[in-house]
Formats: sequence, C-alpha cells, structure tokens
Amino acid sequence: METVFYRMEKRIPVIAETDVLVVGGGPGGMGAAVMAARQGVRVVLAERYGCAGGMASFGEITPFMPNHLHGVTLDKPVFVEWCRKMWEYRDDEAKEAVFDEKIMPGTRISKDVAMLAMEDLLLEAGVKVIYHHNLVDVIMDGDRIEAAVFSSKSGLCAIRAKQYVDSTGDGDLAVLAGCDFEFGNADGFCQPMTLCFKLGGVDTARMPDSKEINRLYDEAKAAGEIDCPRENVLWFSTLEKGVIHFNTTRIIRKSGVNGLELSDAEIEGRRQLRDYLKFLRAHVPGFEHARIHSIAHHVGIRESRRILGECYQTEADFTSARKYPDGIAKVRYPIDIHNPSGSGTIIRTLPETEWYEISFRTLIPKKCANVLMGCRSVSIDHALHSSARVMPPVCSIGQAAGMGAAMAVKAGCRPSALDGVEVRKNLAAAGADL
Ligand SMILES: Cc1cc2nc3c(=O)[nH]c(=O)nc-3n(C[C@H](O)[C@H](O)[C@H](O)COP(=O)(O)OP(=O)(O)OC[C@H]3O[C@@H](n4cnc5c(N)ncnc54)[C@H](O)[C@@H]3O)c2cc1C
Repeated sequence: METVFYRMEKRIPVIAETDVLVVGGGPGGMGAAVMAARQGVRVVLAERYGCAGGMASFGEITPFMPNHLHGVTLDKPVFVEWCRKMWEYRDDEAKEAVFDEKIMPGTRISKDVAMLAMEDLLLEAGVKVIYHHNLVDVIMDGDRIEAAVFSSKSGLCAIRAKQYVDSTGDGDLAVLAGCDFEFGNADGFCQPMTLCFKLGGVDTARMPDSKEINRLYDEAKAAGEIDCPRENVLWFSTLEKGVIHFNTTRIIRKSGVNGLELSDAEIEGRRQLRDYLKFLRAHVPGFEHARIHSIAHHVGIRESRRILGECYQTEADFTSARKYPDGIAKVRYPIDIHNPSGSGTIIRTLPETEWYEISFRTLIPKKCANVLMGCRSVSIDHALHSSARVMPPVCSIGQAAGMGAAMAVKAGCRPSALDGVEVRKNLAAAGADL
C-alpha cells in the first residue's frame, strides 16, 4: 500500500489523571474497572462509543454462554452482579420471581438492559466513566506508558495513569505500547465475524424445529437463494414475545483490526442478512410477516490479536484441565471454533467435573511495564481462545486485571513483580470462586 509522510507535533490537554485507566467498556473492562475501584484506588474507564456493554450492547450478542460447574456459574462476583442488575430491569412477565445464580447463567440478554446494568455497576463502584473517547496512541517513557492518547469531538487529549488495563478486546493499547501478539490460526485467519440481528413479528408457535429450519436452509442454499458459508441457521429465543435472535451470518477471512476489511465486513454481514430475511419470509413457517427488530451497530468480532504474555497457554491446558497456583479464572466452556475459512464448527467439551484455569501471568504482556490485559486478547493460542472468549470468563479475566492493577498501584510496583498467588487470594476474598 502506498504511504504518505504525515507529521504531527502538538500540545494536547490531559483530561484526567488517575491510578488505573481501563480502556474499553465491554465485559472485560467492566470486570477490571469495578474490581479495581473496590480496592480503593481511583479508576477511569474510557470507551470509544457512547455506552458501555461491548459486544453485549452494540454487538447485539445473546445469550451468555454457560461457564458452569454442576449448574452453577464459575464467574463471580462481577459477572453475577451484572446479571442481577439486568434481572432487576426485567418486567414482571419476563422475570423469574427470585434471582437464582444457578439458573442465571442461561440469561438471555437485552442489549439495552446490558448497557444500563453495566453502567449502573460502574457508577456505583465509583468509576469515572468517559464515553466517546477512542484510544489512538500512547506516550511512552521507556517501557512504561506515560499517557494514553484519545480522539474525541474535542480533538486529541491524554489520560495519565499509574497502571493501565487493556480491555479493548483487540489489544489496541498493548500493541500501541509495543507488545507482541499472535493473530488467528496457523493460516493467519481468525474465527469469522458475525453480524447479529433480531426479527420481530414471528409467529413462534408455528416455527418448525431447528432440524427442519436447517433442511429448508440447505434447500435455499442449493437453489442459490442464500449465500452464506455457515453450515446451519443459528438462532436463539429472546425475552420478547415474537422476537428471534440470529447469530448466523458468517464473514470469513477478514481482519477485525484492519479498518478497510472491517468496513467490508459490515457490508457483507448486511448482504447476508438481506438473504436471510428473504429466505425466512419465503420458506420458514411463522416468519411470513417477520420484520427487522434490530441489527447490531458493529459486526461481531470473535477473535483478533492475542497479546503475548509472561505465560502462554494452549489447547493442552484445556485437554489436561490444567490448574495454576496463580489461577485467576476457572473455565469449562468448550473449545468452540467457528471455521475461519468456511463452513463447520469444532466443539470439544471437558468432562462434567473438570475445568482449566487462566494464570495471572497470562494477563501480563511481556514488553510493557504498566499494562495488564483485561479482555479476550490474553496470551493464549487460537484453540484456547475459542473457549475463554465468551462473556462470563472474560468478565473474570477483567476483574483479575483490575485486582492486579490496583495491587500494583498500592505496592508501587509493576504487575510482573506481584505474587500471582496473592492476586488469586485477594480475588477469592473479594468473592471470586477460586
Ligand atoms: C458474533 C459473536 C457471537 C458471540 N456469542 C456469544 C454468546 O452467545 N455468549 C457469550 O457469552 N459470548 C459470545 N461471544 C463472545 C463475547 O461476546 C466476546 O468475546 C466478549 O464480549 C469479549 O469481551 P471484551 O470485553 O474482551 O471485548 P468487547 O465486548 O469487544 O468490548 C471491548 C470494548 O472496548 C471498546 N474499545 C475497543 N477499541 C477501543 C479503542 N481503541 N478505544 C476505546 N474503546 C475501545 C469497545 O467499544 C468495547 O466496548 C460472541 C462474540 C461474537 C463476536
């Protein structure tokens, strides 16, 4: 690609100074900011959009994938509190009488409620939330981040912190700070993107079962009426009557961290959506009068960069259900790889009584002295990422990064100098299931 020389040198305002800066307001960023703030340090969370929630809000993702042991969630306390807040917003008809953390993890998500509930938690914890600020650069002092640079409607500005947590999902902050990363599978392709959408006006009583919907889908594909590499139609019921959620478009071989490819992915996702709409209305009973209820504002990115850290975990950790003395999250969600290059999905499960753990050192990037990873882009391989990436464990990874950042602020040290076993103990004392 042709390049041009562009020079910029200017003084920019420092709009906030804080102990911990969390960049990104998704499930990981919420975990990080809430947990850090509860340790009594000052926390700012900066988010590029005008709301919190990450993929649960603007990506329109539902439901929470189960990360349970014997039917009970492994992701406490912040994830459970988020679910409880969402439950409180539900109307009486959609709401179970009592909040039960055993049944909670099956929660279907309203993107607006997810966003409101997350903001509640952040504000109640005393986090200073700054929306509409997109991270674009960092100012380094040796191997430390001196300040993070954001772009907003006011122009460029900086936020200065002692410790930083990268909760961008893509590792934007760590990469700007010079950290190394892996990307995709052995062929260099990430899991496909999906543009999620919901259809309303569905007569659900007349809807056939999944097997029949998939048979009709195969026929429509064979007839050239629908062009999508996915092997079947992936749909979920929702909290609203007559509204069905679709997680079924499949956009392959595009990078979620390449601006132009991301733009193309949105267009391709909406092209597939139009095909699905025509197919469902024409062929699937109950959908004759279906209408568009909502479309994700941002194509869903399952996988992008994975920042290399002090510990690197692989699929072998899953297979051997490996535990770590400094384990900060327990995961038993399956390996769940949507084919990066076409049709098919690989699922591998653990025995019912088993889980593996994420080590605290997996959250510590090798090349930067004051950043922790508090999102899906931690130091794990493509296969393990497909398991740890779902929202409940990402929340737990985030809360561990927040705990580590707060401990590093208090000790005046770099996160790599912390004893991970102490981080685990402090998390357990704060309510984590460790
Ligand atoms: C199509 C799809 C379906 C999925 N289905 C499920 C499911 O059914 N159940 C489940 O539990 N999980 C599911 N997942 C996985 C899950 O949604 C994500 O892995 C999870 O949301 C990751 O959380 P995160 O906090 O790491 O990142 P995100 O949720 O992506 O949050 C990152 C946040 O950082 C912000 N941000 C990013 N870059 C910047 C920047 N430069 N400056 C400032 N802010 C920035 C973003 O706006 C966002 O708010 C799915 C994912 C996809 C893509």
